[in-house]
Amino acid sequence: MDYPGNLFVVAAPSGAGKSSLVKALMELDSAVQPSVSHTTRAPRGQEKHGREYFFASASEFDAMVESDAFIEWAHVHGQRYGTSKKAVEDRMAQGVDVILEIDFQGAIQIRKTFANAVLIFILPPSWEELRSRLERRGEDSAEVIELRLRNAADEMARASEFDFVIINELFERALFDLKAIVHAQRLRYSAQRRARADTFAALNIP
Ligand code: GDP
Ligand code: ADP
Ligand code: 5GP
Repeated sequence: MDYPGNLFVVAAPSGAGKSSLVKALMELDSAVQPSVSHTTRAPRGQEKHGREYFFASASEFDAMVESDAFIEWAHVHGQRYGTSKKAVEDRMAQGVDVILEIDFQGAIQIRKTFANAVLIFILPPSWEELRSRLERRGEDSAEVIELRLRNAADEMARASEFDFVIINELFERALFDLKAIVHAQRLRYSAQRRARADTFAALNIP
């Protein structure tokens, strides 16, 4: 499938700063839009249905899996999460760049459907810093934090399957790196050929 929009997939162990970086990127660059995932987990604090996630019951989620409505889905930290096919493909067809903030299993599945997807892995600078960010965020119980740290080791072992790696030590530096990846993708020959068709024609480039 070759759509005019790019597909960026960002994965990271929980607490590495993936949500903060993606949110900051979208504030600077309105041509990148998120895809709202479906999840079986319960909403946290201020989360709203349709904004952070579409919150689904186990049976609603099953029905979507059955009807092949997901590009990818995975079990993450004891819950299920999935990306809806329609939401992503409709936007990419309109030429919008879509960014997915999903777990590493989902990212690897995406590559099978979208060979041109750009896979980006965010790493924390150290174990100590990862733990302290999860504690500081204050969203998860001590038990959930321990589970997320155990899962992080398995996730980070798969980082080599990604195209790009960002180490989120200084936030502004990591954001600069993320912007650079998005920018470079837009300068690819095929993307420029599409975006600047008039210039190519005027220069007689077939
Ligand atoms: P959430 O998206 O509401 O869960 O918020 P986060 O806790 O992920 O981040 C809150 C805000 O702080 C986001 O807008 C980030 O851009 C920003 N932020 C997070 N960490 C840093 C940092 O180390 N430096 C700076 N300058 N901003 C940060
Ligand atoms: P994720 O989405 O990967 O689980 P978050 O974006 O929620 O991670 O970040 C986890 C916590 O770490 C948040 O409280 C966030 O504000 C903080 N954080 C993110 N990046 C940095 C950074 N470079 N330095 C310090 N704290 C950070
Ligand atoms: P949280 O519950 O903290 O919002 O997210 C937990 C994990 O689920 C994160 O690693 C997040 O990236 C992942 N996740 C969120 N949406 C999706 C999705 O649609 N598909 C997959 N595979 N993972 C997702």
